[in-house]
Amino acid sequence: MTAFEEELHAVEKKVSAQLSDGRFQHCLRVSDYARKLAQENGVDENQAALAGLVHDYAKERPAEDFLVAIDRFHLDPDLKNWSRAIWHGVVGAEMIQDELGIDDPAILDAVRLHTTGEGVEMPTLAKIVFMADYLETGRDFPGVKEAREITDKSLDRGVFYQLQHTLSFLAENGNVIYPKTFTSYNDWARHSAE
Ligand code: GDP
Ligand code: FE
Ligand code: FE
Repeated sequence: MTAFEEELHAVEKKVSAQLSDGRFQHCLRVSDYARKLAQENGVDENQAALAGLVHDYAKERPAEDFLVAIDRFHLDPDLKNWSRAIWHGVVGAEMIQDELGIDDPAILDAVRLHTTGEGVEMPTLAKIVFMADYLETGRDFPGVKEAREITDKSLDRGVFYQLQHTLSFLAENGNVIYPKTFTSYNDWARHSAE
């Protein structure tokens, strides 16, 4: 086994200890899909596989853990008004660094941005994890095949597709929408109108 494979196995154990089996399997599939997108987009495959593996590390933590961590890591206090859907990325990145010892800033950023996306300046690794989370082989929603095809042709078009569809879906269901989800969408919409 290479040193990287050993690290990946050690991290897998720690991730599986934090999550239900269903969500852990999702993390493994995101890791695989991120590796594939990395190959197609000239990004380090191992870095993408590790980022995909850890992206939902904090998803099942009690709310109290996030509230404590927001203070401890000096994050924006407004985060306290949101919920696990938003916390597990932004706050989860800090927990991953602290508890798993992963210090690669690109991986931590990809975790931070994996729920809301980011404007067109979004780093490529973050785009990859964002799309792998949406397209992993266990995902089955109307349009998933089209979304996979679009993303294979253009990672950027995939990102915009997901932002458009997630925003519509959240609004249709009357969900509260986090401002960053809007600003990410707006930036890509402006960009694609050019
Ligand atoms: P998951 O962790 O693999 O389930 O996927 P994500 O991290 O992408 O999303 C977590 C949940 O947050 C999903 O149910 C999304 O639909 C939802 N979500 C994404 N953006 C927003 C938002 O702006 N506001 C709210 N309330 N939920 C969101
Ligand atoms: Fe997530
Ligand atoms: Fe996920």
